[in-house]
Amino acid sequence: MKFLLANWKMNLGAAGARELAAALGPAAGAGLEVAVFPPFTALEGVAGTLAGGIALGVQDLYPAEKGAFTGEIGFQQIEEFSVRFVLVGHSERRHLLGEGEPLLRKKLEFVLARSLTPVLCVGETLAEREAGRAEAVVDGQLASALEGLPAGPLLIAYEPVWAIGTGLVATTEQAAAMHDFIRARLAGLRAGAIPVLYGGSVSPATIAALIAGARCDGFLVGGASLKADEFLALARACRAAGAENRR
Ligand code: PEP
Repeated sequence: MKFLLANWKMNLGAAGARELAAALGPAAGAGLEVAVFPPFTALEGVAGTLAGGIALGVQDLYPAEKGAFTGEIGFQQIEEFSVRFVLVGHSERRHLLGEGEPLLRKKLEFVLARSLTPVLCVGETLAEREAGRAEAVVDGQLASALEGLPAGPLLIAYEPVWAIGTGLVATTEQAAAMHDFIRARLAGLRAGAIPVLYGGSVSPATIAALIAGARCDGFLVGGASLKADEFLALARACRAAGAENRR
């Protein structure tokens, strides 16, 4: 496993976020890259606390430097914190906040132009899966995000909407099939090897099966990333799998 990303969502105050960041010190290393995505209000404190090579990400970014965009966060507000990753198209922003493909595309272009690495989240709803449309939905999300997009670093996170925060985890077969589909589709859309991550109720109880069979390059974790002991257990499992692969 190459990546383990922690999406803290709209949780934790500044002090709680610093405490959690401090506890994650031993998470990265041995070929595993770890990044945390705190709420914006905790960004400065977490940036000053992180150690052990853990990177910083933001959960969203408005595609402008600064200006009259009430309530939004632009590049000027994050520039000084050495942010590396930006989540784009998380299902909670797509489905709860109504972000559509044109805005997501603008965000991707903006993030790449600022030399940040976007983590593009894609995934189908339960109704779409039950209607046999999971691949078509993900295909459409990839195409509108990536066709003709300028070159630059990119991560993809496959997150079935029905598995996020629900305790339902895609079976290894479902996840592996979609990861293979995404890689095949990416081959026609973008040069180079693009890491494909899985997200959706990953926990210490479910990660072993996913590592063994889901054919992904890492994980994007919500709920279990808010508890230091659980997240450190996930990191240990990922590092051990990396060491096994290098043997
Ligand atoms: C997420 O928010 O990206 C996520 C995968 O959440 P959870 O792990 O809680 O399902």
